[in-house]
Amino acid sequence: MTVSAHFEPVDPLGLDLPTLVAQFGERFGKGEYHALALFRAIYRTGMADPRALSEYGQNLSLAEAVAAQFPVHLPPVVGRSGDGSTYKFLLRLRDGLETESVVIPMKSYKSLCVSSQVGCKMGCAFCETARLGHLRNLTAAEIVAQVLVARHVLGEPIENVVFMGMGEPMDNLDNVLCAVRILSDRRGLAIPLPSITLSTVGHVGGIRRLARLATLAPPEGFPRLRLAVSLNAPNDPLRSELMPVNRHWSLAQLREALVEFPLPRPRDALFVEYVLLEGVNDSRAHALEIVEFLRGIKACVNLIPYNPGPDSPYQRPPETRVREFLQWLLEAGQRSRLRGTKGVGAMAACGQLGNPDRKRAR
Ligand code: SF4
Repeated sequence: MTVSAHFEPVDPLGLDLPTLVAQFGERFGKGEYHALALFRAIYRTGMADPRALSEYGQNLSLAEAVAAQFPVHLPPVVGRSGDGSTYKFLLRLRDGLETESVVIPMKSYKSLCVSSQVGCKMGCAFCETARLGHLRNLTAAEIVAQVLVARHVLGEPIENVVFMGMGEPMDNLDNVLCAVRILSDRRGLAIPLPSITLSTVGHVGGIRRLARLATLAPPEGFPRLRLAVSLNAPNDPLRSELMPVNRHWSLAQLREALVEFPLPRPRDALFVEYVLLEGVNDSRAHALEIVEFLRGIKACVNLIPYNPGPDSPYQRPPETRVREFLQWLLEAGQRSRLRGTKGVGAMAACGQLGNPDRKRAR
């Protein structure tokens, strides 16, 4: 088997199955049978050597050509820290930068919080990642690799993926959606779309694009992919102070996009994340403003008491205030819950990713 010299090797972790099949046709004159065998092996077992696959039978030259043209690159794990229940792991990318991902135990499975960028340009005032700045977008392969490493290298039963690590997913939406298509393919990792959540700072352009895609069937569309929005402040002056994105897309524009976001089933709801900062956004008036903002939107508010970093200007409210705040929302009829702050000790909690050494260097 000869392969035309103009084809560069490609990491198959960044290719969804239809693209991989098309590439097999172009490169080897082969179709779905051989491409699917490789795809299944990579995602179901973590093994990617076509020479060991029965589907390639006696065709050793094809197996060798596929191995050379589609080398899987799993970035090495270069750091791991945790507080027992939750841990963060670091992957070293080819250019020396690192991704950070967090394994979070749930009742009967584990959830993985993945990064979509190295650093972030959104500049949220309370966020550790923001202090890195935006270094670059992750490729689809680098996003998928975080899940593959968690499942097959660290042996974690990951059944849920949340894009709440470093970066704003809507700012790298093409690569994020390509990764989601790969993660959710039932012939591979088979993580259902309702078990994958994209969390946005309130990027209205991205929300509107996702809303259109939510009405289409796979593989073009993403029905029932979950959407979470970080609200963190219920009025424009405070939100613009905490989250610069609000100067570009106001709360009114965000609300309009959320009202129009399709929720296909009666029990589906948007997630609204609200990080509680002591004396900043944790009063009864703020709680009532949240209720007003969400009027007419099917949403569940996730309250997250802030986890201060070593030199953070913000503090976490006392436990009594956190409980009061939850009560104010519930009494006003707003579906809400208190999210645990798993990962506090590992600096793996919400808004706390970002390699401290690199932050110092910046
Ligand atoms: S909270 Fe999210 S969007 Fe805001 S700076 Fe941090 S990583 Fe970026």
